[in-house]
Amino acid sequence: MYVYSLRRPEVREARKETMIYFDNAATTPVRPEVIDVIESCLRDDWGNPNSLHRKGHQAQKRLDEARAVVASLLGAKPTQIVFTSCATESNNIAIFGTIKPRRDANVVTTPIEHESVHGPMQKMKKDIEVRELRVDRYGYVDLADLERKVDANTQLVSIMHVNNEIGTIQDLVKIGKIVKRINPRAMFHVDGVQGFCKVPLDLNAEKIDYYAMSAHKIGGPKGVGALYARDQKKLEPILIGGGQEFGISPGTQNVAYSCAFAKAATLQKDEMGRVDDLRKALVADIEQIDGAHLISPEDSSPYITSVGIEGIKGEILLHYMEQSEMYLSTGSACSGSAESHVLKAIGVPDSYRDGTIRLSLQTYNTIEEVHAFTKVLKENIDTIRSIIGGR
Ligand code: PLP
Repeated sequence: MYVYSLRRPEVREARKETMIYFDNAATTPVRPEVIDVIESCLRDDWGNPNSLHRKGHQAQKRLDEARAVVASLLGAKPTQIVFTSCATESNNIAIFGTIKPRRDANVVTTPIEHESVHGPMQKMKKDIEVRELRVDRYGYVDLADLERKVDANTQLVSIMHVNNEIGTIQDLVKIGKIVKRINPRAMFHVDGVQGFCKVPLDLNAEKIDYYAMSAHKIGGPKGVGALYARDQKKLEPILIGGGQEFGISPGTQNVAYSCAFAKAATLQKDEMGRVDDLRKALVADIEQIDGAHLISPEDSSPYITSVGIEGIKGEILLHYMEQSEMYLSTGSACSGSAESHVLKAIGVPDSYRDGTIRLSLQTYNTIEEVHAFTKVLKENIDTIRSIIGGR
């Protein structure tokens, strides 16, 4: 079943399909066009791109084309794109490949990063000073604090583009300017997973050195990502092998998935702005629900909406919704049921922190789905409250 073909209500009707999937920040269904690319690549261009014969050249050509596409979407050069197995790998390469352990040096980051940045930073704490920036109630980085914490000994600044739980878009132009003005040698790394091809990006104006991306958030398969590296020679590899991907992500390349990544990114970028109206409708419907608080800032990524609901537990609501084949997430999908460090860092009040849900859209979703979803959401909230006696 391809939900991308379900945009037309009559198709849904004919197929008797009722699923409404609003958990696209966790992962997206693979686009049919992307499946075609994977199939053709696996069928026809299955060679090892490092082989010297014709089968190898064919595969190498496909890989080169994919790299050129991703580079052009970013306004970068092909040699600045490294294909990886996921964005977790991309983030780890940027962090461990940059930091040189020294007690008098530091790295600067935020308390709302994804685990694939937060985890490596925790590990580096014994070797280098890790400075965390203050964020406000919406997760925006405090720029005055950034001015104070970046100094001549800063090796790396790591700040995400779009937050995966609340959708906050950081002002990367201002951040990049501050970092490079204070210390031009400090590397600026951005986890771009939830922003890539969904919200505007300008790597040069933002002075970004490393930008991490993942295919499965944009209609591509899981298991492939990429890292933009302004100057890949500055990165110390964290894996040693056959030297593929400029020696930064060695291992025989996944040509089919790299091509899939390029296709998904092209389609996603073409659709930029397409969920804006859906997001407005979603927020308007949610405002009608008693005791529901919008946690995301109003101008967050339109793809991600975080809502805190008084008097319920997000996980219980998730399972009620699931019975109607409607899918959402509590906090971040990656943190599962563990308490969200993001919601804690931005100081979401206790009265609705447990009742926080994340509704995340993709371009195949429709206005009808938004209204149908919020109607059932409201009914389930009323039911849960009546059972547990809340509000
Ligand atoms: N960074 C952010 C902001 C994410 O949302 C995710 C996935 O949820 C990742 C990194 C990790 O991406 P991948 O699943 O490709 O490792």
